[in-house]
Amino acid sequence: MSAAAYEIYAIKYAHHERTASQNFLGGDPHDGPMPMDYFVWLVRGAEVEVVVDTGFNAAAAARRQRQLLRPVDEALALMGVQAASVRDVVITHLHYDHVGSFDLFPQAAFHVQDLEMQYATGRNMRHDALRHAFEVEDVVGMVRNVYAGRVRFYAGDAQLFPGISVHLIGGHTMGLQVVRVATRRGHVVLASDASHYYANMGEGRPFPIVYNVGDMMDGWGKLRDLADSPAHIVPGHDPLVLERYPAPSKELAGIVARLD
Ligand SMILES: [Zn+2]
Repeated sequence: MSAAAYEIYAIKYAHHERTASQNFLGGDPHDGPMPMDYFVWLVRGAEVEVVVDTGFNAAAAARRQRQLLRPVDEALALMGVQAASVRDVVITHLHYDHVGSFDLFPQAAFHVQDLEMQYATGRNMRHDALRHAFEVEDVVGMVRNVYAGRVRFYAGDAQLFPGISVHLIGGHTMGLQVVRVATRRGHVVLASDASHYYANMGEGRPFPIVYNVGDMMDGWGKLRDLADSPAHIVPGHDPLVLERYPAPSKELAGIVARLD
């Protein structure tokens, strides 16, 4: 057991009814319902509080026909966290469902990979298929945060706090990063969209929104290297997370899962 042992919570803020063919490159021969959950994650220690990703807001939900269950500040308030006073937010990547509500965190430093900012502001965004999951106002907003001195950049792997580190994976986007956290049960990896569902990495079937398929598939190996076991990897969008992990209280069942 390391000195630092954090609590981790997955907090569901949105939902989308969809089919399996939307979740696998090349579709799914046995197509059927395969809904998607949307989460933000809270990492909490004695003196450290880190939020991983900021979700999307009501406007983006309406535009993209996603069901916003609760705005992300309300979602975090369920765990006693005030978004307005959070100091550190890891942005796993700049897709709309991971950075869309960054304005709810006026005190935060945003931890981002160099390659992600390059990707979201560079030549690849000329292509609709690659920019589709980005919202230009989110990206421009993050550029403004750079100018305001509020973005911490990383070129690869880095430790944020003792027992909390980020790791460059790429694949889904050019600069996707995952978060490794020391907990009482060992090292847990928040995979975000390095594996949307358990089935993506478990069955070796890539998610269809992808910048580099090879890097995405290699990323599953990196997740396994970083985590203490496959059961220590937490996918980014799988409703099964809320079934496999306990809720911190009866009232939060179906909304919050405790991952440590
Ligand atoms: Zn996502």
